Amino acid sequence: MIMLLNECSKTGKSGVTLPCCDVPEKALTDYFSQALLRDKAPELPELSEPEVVRHFTNLSSLNHHLDKGFYPLGSCTMKYNPKVNDAAAAHPAFSGLHPLQSSQSLQGAMQIYGEVEQYLCAVTGMNAFTLQPAAGSHGELTGVMIMRKYHASKGQNKSIILIPDSAHGTNPASVAIGGFKAVTVNSTSEGLVDIEDLKKKLTPEVAGFMLTNPNTLGIFEENVVEIARLIHQQDGLMYMDGANMNALLGIVKTADMGFDITHINLHKTFSTPHGGGGPGSGPIGVNKKLAQFLPTPVIKKDGKNWVFDWNRPDSIGHVLSFWGHFGVIIRAWAYIRMLGAKGLREVAENAIINANYIRARLEGIYELPYKKRSMHEIVFSGDKQKSRGAKTLDIAKRLLDYGIHAPTIYFPLIVHEAIMIEPTETEKLETLDQFIETMLTIDEEISNDLEKVTKAPWTTPVSRLDEGRANRELNIKWQDGTAIKTE
Ligand SMILES: *Cc1c(COP(=O)(O)O)cnc(C)c1O
Repeated sequence: MIMLLNECSKTGKSGVTLPCCDVPEKALTDYFSQALLRDKAPELPELSEPEVVRHFTNLSSLNHHLDKGFYPLGSCTMKYNPKVNDAAAAHPAFSGLHPLQSSQSLQGAMQIYGEVEQYLCAVTGMNAFTLQPAAGSHGELTGVMIMRKYHASKGQNKSIILIPDSAHGTNPASVAIGGFKAVTVNSTSEGLVDIEDLKKKLTPEVAGFMLTNPNTLGIFEENVVEIARLIHQQDGLMYMDGANMNALLGIVKTADMGFDITHINLHKTFSTPHGGGGPGSGPIGVNKKLAQFLPTPVIKKDGKNWVFDWNRPDSIGHVLSFWGHFGVIIRAWAYIRMLGAKGLREVAENAIINANYIRARLEGIYELPYKKRSMHEIVFSGDKQKSRGAKTLDIAKRLLDYGIHAPTIYFPLIVHEAIMIEPTETEKLETLDQFIETMLTIDEEISNDLEKVTKAPWTTPVSRLDEGRANRELNIKWQDGTAIKTE
């Protein structure tokens, strides 16, 4: 077990060697009034440098992560991200900037904002972008606020946003926070939007349709142009949840499918490592008729200079302090510049081929409930395995013993015992083969050695956690003499 730094601390240990002080010592009270000072010194651990480095190195390997192994977490696009993009973002010329500097002194940074907006317009066919939203879900909310403003500007009081039953959980949440009612549209047995059900629910109160394409089953909504026509007939807006653009880059543009608004997750598709709750970025793009509603300020070019345009009377306002998560935006800029248009298309082609390779080799052993062509991810059902005694959760836990992160499980909700695999384009054939062999081995273990699977994991630092309780009663406060408690 790894001890906490507080537990390894010993009075007098130090990680630095400083020369003797050669100026007279001053008391803190010479600078600050007593009222501002602490009563007693903070309880910081005292440790040597190697102890601290080893502590964090050991901690970093307790959990699975992308630098350690394969991470096929469906819908999350956990792909390997080139370190050079991290280096670009960490460059002191960027990391040393302050957002309150004058725009005159931020010209280089503003150029990067402007160019990323242009690149995203090129990728999606949208007319204008804002880089402010801090995550995909925040982009959705921003989009919903724009929908509201659009309808209000036309004197329309619409109250409903339609969402397919396969939608990501953030979709209905954003709709509700944005003040609309989410109404669910069913899927067909093929895994596509049920057009007949859509027609039934498409009343004049419908403000728009929030659709993921490829949908969360990894299937392309082939009727999307017809769906857009129906929604537009009622003056509804088409919103695309574009969190997972990996399958589309360079192949199809969001605007060409009839969407009016889309968000993009830079931290999924455009090179920012994610998964630990670090900063994200969920830019949204809109077409011409909605550009006036984008959040303020808009970054634009005035002659030779980049400027912030605050004079936007129709704007929904500001959605984030300052201008968006700049480090994430620099990574996206570097990634797009590195790959170019041809490279971006190859990202999509390889993401699709990798997913279909896994599908072809596992289909039959694992049940594939929706058989339409897969895009960048595949959703199997663990029903066959469950009938032999092991749930999808067990399979996911057993994968950890083999050094592989579990796929997304039990989502989308319309698939029993769902196992949602997104290999991404950055994995080589050998890694895919190793994953496939492992999935086949686990299937055999279910027949031959069931407990190996149902009691997994065996090799991780902790075995089965009570995940429901850990979420509901989260308490990670350090208490004297004890490691992390969940009581
Ligand atoms: C990840 C994801 C989101 C939400 O993005 P966050 O950045 O996590 O808020 C929305 N929709 C889909 C389909 C996603 O995969």
